[in-house]
Amino acid sequence: MTVANAVTVLGTGIMGAGMARSLLRAGLDVTVWNRSADKARPLADDGATVAADVTDAVRGADVVVTMLFDADAVAEVMTTALPAFGGDTVWVQSSTVGLDGVARLADLAARQDVPFVDAPVLGTRQPAEEGKLIALVGGPAALRHTVAPVLDAIAARTVWVGEQPGDGHRLKLVANSWVVSVVADTAQSVALAAGLGLEPQRFLDVISGGPLDSAYAQQKGHAMIDGDHTPSFTLGGAVKDIELILAAMRATGTDDRVMAGQQAVFRAAQDAGHGQEDISAVHLAMRANTA
Ligand code: NAP
Repeated sequence: MTVANAVTVLGTGIMGAGMARSLLRAGLDVTVWNRSADKARPLADDGATVAADVTDAVRGADVVVTMLFDADAVAEVMTTALPAFGGDTVWVQSSTVGLDGVARLADLAARQDVPFVDAPVLGTRQPAEEGKLIALVGGPAALRHTVAPVLDAIAARTVWVGEQPGDGHRLKLVANSWVVSVVADTAQSVALAAGLGLEPQRFLDVISGGPLDSAYAQQKGHAMIDGDHTPSFTLGGAVKDIELILAAMRATGTDDRVMAGQQAVFRAAQDAGHGQEDISAVHLAMRANTA
């Protein structure tokens, strides 16, 4: 297997655009494609080749990275793209798609004899822009050498969890259950503080620097207090991920009552029109005296 030099990124949303820029900074030859071309076009200024067509985008690539919203989007795009893959092209699938989703996509790859690496990532907009994500990987050891330049460019740390599709995703779902819980619990404490007539900032100050603190809770708590819900991770994405986490919980008989409660609150915020805002906007469904 060759070492990747030509890399295609399919999906230049919040994460894919940052990952493409990190790949360019690492000196790789990067092609990008996005369903809405206006989101891919600015990457030309960073040195990427912007493809108008998904089959043109993947032709000649050593590695194709998918960073699309969900399993349906990835399956739809890859059904068109996979027949245009070269004999040695490796598919690195980084979108969060859940365990059934990974199995479905790995099957699509296998039918076309395309080597598949399950590589979801931890980290959000800024780590994606800085090449400081954590990649959680399930894939054959024989592909490590080929995909190393790609994972090294986008991630500060790569964790090879196992060799099977789904190995990366199992750890991703565990970590994301923590992510949504920290945000929901921060929103709950901020809302309770306000309900009790306290400045919510006093909650963040009282945990600051001690064993109860979390940089993520501070960041999201400040966003809630400031009312700045510019998306790093959309609330709609969190709703999608909660469904994937619940499916894994139910499949394994894990108690899902806490996650089911969080699902209700995140859905309420989505139904109130906050799906395209940041996950911190869950606070808007939890404020005292609000619907
Ligand atoms: P995003 O900004 O909403 O981007 C979503 C991307 O998916 C866009 O490129 C969008 O294209 C594309 N897409 C959606 N439906 C499609 C379809 N049917 N056909 C073709 N393209 C489609 O989301 P993101 O935050 O970058 O997230 C991308 C993936 O990374 C998701 O699986 C998410 O769960 C995961 N992730 C996100 C974060 C985070 O913090 N943001 C962290 C780790 C993992 P258009 O532009 O045309 O709509």
